[in-house]
Order: sequence, then C-alpha cells, then structure tokens
Amino acid sequence: MNEYFHSVNLDKNKCRGCTNCIKRCPTEAIRVRKGKAGIIRERCIDCGECIRVCPYHAKTAISDELDVIKNYRYRVAIPAPSFYGQFDKKYSRDNILNALKGIGFDQVFEVARAAEIVSEATRHMILDPSVKKPMISSACPGVVRLIQVRFPGLIENIVKLESPMEVAAKIVKAQLGKNSNIPKEEIGVFFISPCPAKVTSVKSPYEKQTSYVDGVISMKDIFVKVLAELGSPDNTARYSAAGLEGLDWANAGGESGALPTEKILAVDGIHNVIKILDEIEGDRLSDVDFVEALCCVGGCLGGPLTVANVFVAKTTLKKHILEAPVSSIEKMPPKSFEELVWTSNVEYKPVMKLDQDILKAMEKLEKLESIYDGLPGLDCGACGAPNCRALAEDIVREIANETDCIFKLRQRIRDLAEEMVELGGKVPPVMDSDGQEEDG
Ligand code: SF4
Ligand code: SF4
Repeated sequence: MNEYFHSVNLDKNKCRGCTNCIKRCPTEAIRVRKGKAGIIRERCIDCGECIRVCPYHAKTAISDELDVIKNYRYRVAIPAPSFYGQFDKKYSRDNILNALKGIGFDQVFEVARAAEIVSEATRHMILDPSVKKPMISSACPGVVRLIQVRFPGLIENIVKLESPMEVAAKIVKAQLGKNSNIPKEEIGVFFISPCPAKVTSVKSPYEKQTSYVDGVISMKDIFVKVLAELGSPDNTARYSAAGLEGLDWANAGGESGALPTEKILAVDGIHNVIKILDEIEGDRLSDVDFVEALCCVGGCLGGPLTVANVFVAKTTLKKHILEAPVSSIEKMPPKSFEELVWTSNVEYKPVMKLDQDILKAMEKLEKLESIYDGLPGLDCGACGAPNCRALAEDIVREIANETDCIFKLRQRIRDLAEEMVELGGKVPPVMDSDGQEEDG
C-alpha cells in the first residue's frame, strides 16, 4: 500500500500563480511560491476543489487509463450511479451499460445495487443504541480524510461500513469465483468514477490493507468512447437491476433519504461540510442521528471527473430513478452485514499540529500568535498563503519569511530607507589635501 498516494496533482507548466486555489482548499494545503502553486501532500484530502476552481486547468486528477484493463483476461466495469447522469435522457440505463461493455469490458455491475445493500446495513445500524450518533456517512472518501486531518474527535462517528464501490467489487469477485473457472488474478474490476478521492481510496485505502477494486477510470476519460458506442444498434441486452434507492446515492440527500428516520441531515459542498462538522464537534447537533456529508455540490453528480453540468445531470438521473423499481434487494437480517464492517478503524493524521511534542507545540503556538498579531490581518493571499494566520504558521514552520507579506516588506524597505538617510547624515565629510571639505 502506498500511504502517500494522491490523485490530485499540479502541472507546474500550466500554473500561473493566480492564487485562486489557495483560499478554496479546505485543509490549507496549497501555497504559491515563486509564482507557482505547490501542494503540501500530507494535508491534501484529494477533494478536488482546486481542480474545480483553477482557471488554467493546472490541477489534474491521476486515474487509470482505459488501457489498464488489458492487463486482465476478464474485465468488469462497476459504474458509479452518477454515470447515468452524464448522457442524454434518451438513452436508457441498459443502453449505457451495453455501451460500457462495447469499449472493452466483459461484464458490467451497477454500484447502485451495492449501495442498496449498504443502505440496508445502515438501517440496521441506526437502530443500534451502541452506535455513536450522529453517524457520519463514510460514502465520500474526501469527507473521511477531512475528518482524519481536521476533526479527529469525530472519527468515532464515521459509519464503519464498506463503500458501495468496495461492496460491488467484492460481490463481483465472489460471484465469478463461484460460477466461473477464471483464476482470480485474471479478473480485473474497474470503478467508473466521478471523483479523484475514490482513486485515492482505492490506491491507499484508509480502513484496510487493499481494495477489491483493481483500477479507477475517470468518467471524463471514457465519456467520448462510450458515447460513440451508444449509437450501436446492438445495445439492448439487459444488465440494469438496481432500484431507485441505490441510484439516488448519486444525489446529495439520496443516501440519507433511504433511512427510516427524520433525524437526518444532508450537506454537500466541502465548505458547508466543514461548518456542519464544526456543529457536531461543538455538540450542537444532538437531535440528528445520521449526517450525509459530501465534498461536491450536488453530491457525486457534481464530481470533478464528471462531464455533464450537475443540474442537467440531476434531471437526467431523475428520469432513470422514476423508471426504476424501489429496490432490487430482499430484506436482510443484521448478520448478513458483518462482512461489510471495516476491519480496522481510520487513524487521526496530525498533519495540522505544529509539533508532536506538546510543550514544543505550545511554544510554537505562542510564537505563531505573536507573529500573527504583527501581520495586517487582511488575508489578501499575496504572500502565497491562504490567510495571515497560515503565513504566521509557515514562518513558525520555517518555510516562509515575514517579508513574504508585502505590507511587512514595504515597512521593512521604508525602515531601511529611513535608517540609510539617518546614517547618511552621520557620514563624516571628505577632506581634500588642503584640509578643505570636498563638494558633494
Ligand atoms: S484536492 Fe482538495 S485538499 Fe487537496 S490541494 Fe486540492 S483543494 Fe486542497
Ligand atoms: S488556481 Fe492555483 S494551480 Fe491554478 S493557476 Fe492559480 S495558483 Fe496555479
């Protein structure tokens, strides 16, 4: 497992140092220095917010190329429910799944079906008084990582169930293991993803050693190929099975809407999510049992690797939802979900701490406060840090100087100029050979 894998990356050649991204990053992971942005890797949660806001497309997400499927003899695509929202309404789910097969997959399995299983497991969990409330959905890996770095006190509230993507891959591999004689190392399962955080969660899972998913392919990357296949007349075989409950997971509010309680809260957009997590941390949401929190506005339909406008995609998906059965799964007893529970808990990542040693951390904090007091407090971003406090922190961490602040620099130049004038007045006059003061 590569602990430090990140899907979101910077193309320095494209970056113009405009500073648009630094203020939007929820973990203050970006700095602009010498005219170029840089990501502090251990702080990045791969939420994709910087991809969305960079006007020069300098931030990109690394995902697997479609060609990686050729490394496997039997290839299975597991599309996220949001995939259906990317195409014109006139195409049915079966049209889209057939087209996916047409670009090189042997089988397709809807992640929405697995989402229904996770919903059923959550319905059992929410009734269990020993489960800490409010439960916070683990469906969005960006939110789980955000909690790991910024809200360690809420780790216990995270729903410790496998994501629909993992459950789908697990089901596919179990079924093929039972019903086919293809060796398991020759089966490749690929998630068709709306989001870079999913790439990270497969390459570096936080809740276990390895993922059941063998690769993550961006919706954007295969969109045109799938679109070309949609025109094929031979695309009517039936593969769709998921019910509306699973499909609705693509929408903000879809996951929580499947729960048998009104004590739910759905929040989307990373900065809104932070506000709600602050509320939970401050114990101000005690009347809520379940929080669905998603990094992207609109939910997965608004993911940075999608193609369609989130609002258009919502309308398209609604059509598929209206045509689907309520559910594709039978009621299941609580015991059936034991295998879905995480084998290990997520860990706190103290990347925002000034020092691991508490005494040193306190000293540094004091220094930070005093530097911060001396800064103008305008949060202009001209220094390349998202705000004055972040610059003060960078100075304490010895990765920035006070004069990176243009106001401080101006003040320093002014002080130096005054000092030079003052010193100039003290320079003794130069005498000529006759002992007379020279001109000038
Ligand atoms: S992906 Fe998110 S956390 Fe990472 S640098 Fe971009 S905005 Fe910050
Ligand atoms: S938004 Fe960030 S990455 Fe994009 S050009 Fe501006 S500074 Fe560079």
